[in-house]
Amino acid sequence: MRNWFRNVALATSTIVRGMYVTLWYFVRSFRRKAFTQHFEYPERPIPIRPRYRGFHRYDLTTCIGCDKCARACPVDCIYIDKEKAAPPAKGFVVTGFKIDYTKCMFCALCVDPCPVDCIFMGSTHDISTFTRDGCVVDYATLPLAIAWGQDTLNPTAVHESKRVSLPVWTKAGEKSAGASG
Ligand code: SF4
Ligand code: SF4
Repeated sequence: MRNWFRNVALATSTIVRGMYVTLWYFVRSFRRKAFTQHFEYPERPIPIRPRYRGFHRYDLTTCIGCDKCARACPVDCIYIDKEKAAPPAKGFVVTGFKIDYTKCMFCALCVDPCPVDCIFMGSTHDISTFTRDGCVVDYATLPLAIAWGQDTLNPTAVHESKRVSLPVWTKAGEKSAGASG
C-alpha cells in the first residue's frame, strides 16, 4: 500500500514538473519580442558565438594546394584545381578552390590538417541563392577580402565570382598558363 501511494506521488510530481516547464515556455513565448525587434537583419548582422562555424575563410595567397583539406573532408565537397608553378618557382598555383555547400556539413575537419593555416570556419551564415549552382563557392575567384571573411560572402559576390575565369591572385614572380599577375 505504501508503494502504491509512493508511485502515485511520484507520478503526480512528475506531471506537475512537466506541466510547469510547458507553462513556463508558453508564457515566455508570449512575453518575448519579435525577432525583428531584437535584430535588424540583414542590415546589421546577428551576433554569433565566438566559435560559430559558418562559411569558410580561405586565404589564396597562403594556400600551397597540398589537398590535405580535400582529403580530410568526409563528404568530398572541396574541389581544388591547380597547375605546376612555372620554374624557377616551385609548388603549385591554385586556380580553383571550390566548396560545395549543398554537401558541406560544417564539421571543420578540413581546418586542422592545413599545414599553412589558410582555411578556417568563418562567421558568415547567410548565402541564400535561387539555384544550387550558387551554393558552390569558388574561393579562388572571390575577392580576397570576401574569401578571407573581412567582407560578407553574399550571393551577388558568389555570382560575380563565377564570371571570373582567371584566379584573382598569383604568387609573385610566377607566370603560369592562364594566371594573371
Ligand atoms: S566543414 Fe567538413 S564537410 Fe565542410 S568542407 Fe570542411 S571537412 Fe568538408
Ligand atoms: S590544406 Fe590548406 S594549404 Fe592545403 S590545399 Fe587545403 S587550404 Fe590549401
